[in-house]
Amino acid sequence: MQTYANYIAGQWLVGPSQRPNVNPSDTGDVLGLYTQADSEQAEQAIAAAHVAAPAWGLSSPQVRADALDRIGSEILARKEELGELLAREEGKTRPEAVGEAARAGAIFKFFAQEALRLRGDKLASVRPGIEVEVTREPLGVVGLITPWNFPIAIPAWKIAPALAFGNAVVLKPAELVPGSAWALAEIISRAGLPDGVFNLAMGPGSVVGQALLNDRRVNGLSFTGSQATGQRVAMAAVQRGAKFQLEMGGKNPLLVLADADIEAAVNCAVQGGFYSTGQRCTASSRVIVERAVYARFAERMAEVTQALRVGHALRPETQIGPVVDASQLQQDLDYIRLAKEEGARLLAGGQTLTLDWPGHYLAPALFGDCDNAMRHCQEEIFGPVVSLIPCENYEHGLALANDTPFGLSSGICTGSLKHAHHFKRHSQAGMVMVNCPTAGVDYHAPFGGRKASSMGAREQGSYAAEFFTSVKTSYLQA
Ligand code: NAD
Repeated sequence: MQTYANYIAGQWLVGPSQRPNVNPSDTGDVLGLYTQADSEQAEQAIAAAHVAAPAWGLSSPQVRADALDRIGSEILARKEELGELLAREEGKTRPEAVGEAARAGAIFKFFAQEALRLRGDKLASVRPGIEVEVTREPLGVVGLITPWNFPIAIPAWKIAPALAFGNAVVLKPAELVPGSAWALAEIISRAGLPDGVFNLAMGPGSVVGQALLNDRRVNGLSFTGSQATGQRVAMAAVQRGAKFQLEMGGKNPLLVLADADIEAAVNCAVQGGFYSTGQRCTASSRVIVERAVYARFAERMAEVTQALRVGHALRPETQIGPVVDASQLQQDLDYIRLAKEEGARLLAGGQTLTLDWPGHYLAPALFGDCDNAMRHCQEEIFGPVVSLIPCENYEHGLALANDTPFGLSSGICTGSLKHAHHFKRHSQAGMVMVNCPTAGVDYHAPFGGRKASSMGAREQGSYAAEFFTSVKTSYLQA
């Protein structure tokens, strides 16, 4: 079986141990052995980035733009193959995975151009004879720590702006999905970057991730993952004065009003709640429905949910792939049991499925008659579990939508312009959708949340420069 190495200082290096990459659709299918760095190898990656950062930070934006554009073109040209690899290791369906790979390619091409668009300001000074100039500079070395649910898009949306604005990178991908990150690193390794500008350090979070948190040479930490790990990142960064940005969990509401097109609203809820196996930080895990249409909505959503085809991620008929691994499946089942104990009514699914392949299959679970205060409505499950919560009217629905520790994405289905506008303004979320699923965003628009979902500057689009550059104000006596 092939062993995949880390990429450090322009070289492929094997670490002291290897980890098998197992297909969640068919656990007998192992994609390969992926090397695991120890703290020494993690330190080597940081040192390589530290050496490479100053020259890269002063490089021509044209050089950076050309490299990023080459990376983006290759990803786009190979999106089918990269999508298949992604579907095999993570379990989202082939079309979802190919779409994610294409998104990664588009992100690199977008940031290729952003490298050329970085601009500053010139201000008139209040003092005579002085010029004030505002410029942006790279941070230096950035540590990028990514989760398992978007194995190529999240690394791409951190790596591309980091490199575009002249930072040196150490990428620490999630243990469960090293294949897509490795494939991306292999493409980057041939893009003409100086050695050490980009480094891949696969390995355990507690070792490689922690090394990035602790090392004073890492000037910025960009993290996406769980709230618990995010808190560790923030504490470490504050203690040693590193810049950080965190994207964490969600418990995203979709509010369905009585004047909505019910069929379209059910589609939004099913798409947002169950596609990608519900393993999206933007998943609509709470669907809040105005009581006047609650029974009709619940009945129709149960019908559609029941009919979803769960199966092997690479089969063309599959709509919902497997859960990513045994421990996430156990977490989903624990929450399904809890929801029942809390008095929610199971309307569809919720049981494990035995199919033709040994995989982590779960029938999407739809719960009705939920109370927003129930624990399963307040905590992130991160699986194909949706809770229907009845509300009395728009104002009550909005209050329930906002009654959560999280604030990543939210949505409303309505025919009323007045309510759509009011919701856009008063929903306590970083991203608000009107008559669209809470999941599914553009690659050139800022992404991020509020409250416990996010901390620090936004990711993606031109807003990414906020995190990956540092502002300098210079005064010059003419
Ligand atoms: P996780 O927190 O377990 O892991 C995320 C990353 O942190 C992994 O690479 C892991 O190895 C690393 N890590 C673990 N311990 C560490 C430590 N001590 N120091 C440094 N790094 C460490 O999260 P996960 O299970 O991979 O991902 C699921 C979570 O990610 C969910 O909560 C989901 O909502 C969230 N997520 C958020 C967004 C968003 O943009 N808001 C997007 C996708 C996923």
